[in-house]
Amino acid sequence: MRGNFATQFKNVFMKDFKIQSEQFADIRILRYRVPGFETLSIEKKILLYYLYEAALSGRDMIYDQNYKHNLLIRHTLENIINTFRGSRRNEYWEKFLVYVKKVWFSNGIHHHYSMDKFVPDIPIGYFFEMILFSDKKKFKHEGQDIERFMEKVTKLIFDERTAVKRVVLDEGKDLIAESANNFYEGITQEETENYYKNIAIDDENEPPSYGLNSKLVKESGEIKEKVWKIGGMYSEAIERVVYWLEKATSVAETENQKKALLKLIEFYKTGDLKTFDEYSILWLQDLHSEIDVVNGFIEVYGDALGRKATYESVVSIRDEEASRRAAAVSNNAQWFEDHSPTDKKYKKENVKGVSARGINVVVESGDCSPSTPIGINLPNADWIRAKHGSKSVTINNIMIAYDEASKESGAIEEFAWSDEEIRLSKTWGVLASNLHVDLHEIVGHGSGKQAPGVGNPGDILKNYASTIEEARADIFALYFAIDEKLIELGLMPSLEVGYAEYNSYIRGGMMTQLVRVEPGKDIEESHMRNRQLIAKWAYEKGKPENVIEKKTRDGLTFFVVNDHEKLREIFGELLREIQRIKSEGDYEAAKSMVENYGVKVDREIHKEVLERWKKLNIAPFSGFINPKLIPIIIGESIEDIKIEYPDNFMDQMLEYGEKYSTLPFPNL
Ligand SMILES: [Zn+2]
Repeated sequence: MRGNFATQFKNVFMKDFKIQSEQFADIRILRYRVPGFETLSIEKKILLYYLYEAALSGRDMIYDQNYKHNLLIRHTLENIINTFRGSRRNEYWEKFLVYVKKVWFSNGIHHHYSMDKFVPDIPIGYFFEMILFSDKKKFKHEGQDIERFMEKVTKLIFDERTAVKRVVLDEGKDLIAESANNFYEGITQEETENYYKNIAIDDENEPPSYGLNSKLVKESGEIKEKVWKIGGMYSEAIERVVYWLEKATSVAETENQKKALLKLIEFYKTGDLKTFDEYSILWLQDLHSEIDVVNGFIEVYGDALGRKATYESVVSIRDEEASRRAAAVSNNAQWFEDHSPTDKKYKKENVKGVSARGINVVVESGDCSPSTPIGINLPNADWIRAKHGSKSVTINNIMIAYDEASKESGAIEEFAWSDEEIRLSKTWGVLASNLHVDLHEIVGHGSGKQAPGVGNPGDILKNYASTIEEARADIFALYFAIDEKLIELGLMPSLEVGYAEYNSYIRGGMMTQLVRVEPGKDIEESHMRNRQLIAKWAYEKGKPENVIEKKTRDGLTFFVVNDHEKLREIFGELLREIQRIKSEGDYEAAKSMVENYGVKVDREIHKEVLERWKKLNIAPFSGFINPKLIPIIIGESIEDIKIEYPDNFMDQMLEYGEKYSTLPFPNL
């Protein structure tokens, strides 16, 4: 599971290091630094380098997973840029570049957040002419008529009626047939559900995550799983990933780490999900390595049924300071569980091995890039979490980059009611959001247990499962945000930190996060649904006592927390109910809560937020350029690894496209 950042910011400088590289459409491109890289031993640097190459070698898979024709489209676009770059400079060309950058940012032709297909804002004729005169040798269209090929690619890009949405989550629609992603083909939701219902689980206690690493297709009336493995689907990309992982095993830091990497390689070779679970446990138990890596088919947000996992990799170095903070939360996991307001029967008696650390990422790839999470809690398999615990990380250098970029944005001043609220936010905002992520990831997701006989929440709560799970972790973190215990543990100096968190959460959930939603649309993404759900539910519930007040000044709207202690009580009530919903698998209650509080957008507020935000000129979404690792090779051996911080998004994307194109395209 992932933590995403709610807040948005603007261009700022950090010493000589420029954080923001550029801004286009609704996106700004930032950079992050890797503290501590230079002082690592050469062995660790080489290990990082191999894992870095492994991460990027799998990059093509996310494009193909997001939509069947994404790779072909990306290749066509990159070919056009490589042909005409430097020689064209006009309005259409600039608009074309914005389109291509959006494709890179989203790993495909659908908006990474709204999931809607976007199209270039240029005449089709202009585009067609560019394909016509671009370097044809580079089109991988072997055996196809070039004119027909061009027409088809153009149609894929410009036709707004095909592949409308990457992930459809609307109640009443066929979530599988209508989603444009490439996890299923020629098959309906009902057929999919039946298929997985009928798989005999050989071990009820340790059920593999069936369907995690495959595409489900219907061929001549028969349903088949195409497994992502060497010798199966995505073989070319996975072979390259494995090549670098094998090198990494030769310089592994610890025996545990080596064992885990070897298991991951075995999984990529066999596609066996039991092997993946074994790998996950080994990865979980590798606690002492300074270098760590997430690599694999991990998160299921891209599949409406929450079964198919997208490729991602996060390569990192432990951050000592952030790790100390995380450990303080983790070591008290049982205390938090015991003191949470949930029903006793849904509490864990023994919260197991919640391992937590702060990390600095060195490279991110697949579904974690260019848009990145700021916290990760894995593995996702519920039985592993229950039996072995989970490993939770907060990504320190990404959070620092966001913070640096935020300092002068003006957003807090715009949406906060009072000087006191601004002061709290400026003084404690960073610590408050760091602690929120720690609590969400380290104790939030790991808390609670299922009622006897209630199975996998994903299967029962279906399209509401992600929202309910994220809400549960968030509300858990909020409940404890103003607990004296955090002061006692040395995590914060005063309750003001928690007050700052409450204020910003309500501002975000009621107002500012709406900048990410297009006018007239409702909320789709599960983290956003959960934030509005919590804020709105608390607002409604607190109305009789005016706990959160809607105020206006000069025609502008503000949501102001009047009583933080009362708000905490309300959060406690909500936490209790959400835990009950998950534990009992109460689909109807989940549906009603999400639909009533999380989905629908207040049109008036939305319009106002968009207008106020526009004035600030801050793009609502952020992505990152990765650092570049360069091996210094003398003779046969690597003498050193140099780290560089490129500042041009397009250059990096073109370089990746050139160097890490690992997959052939499906025929048109
Ligand atoms: Zn989460």
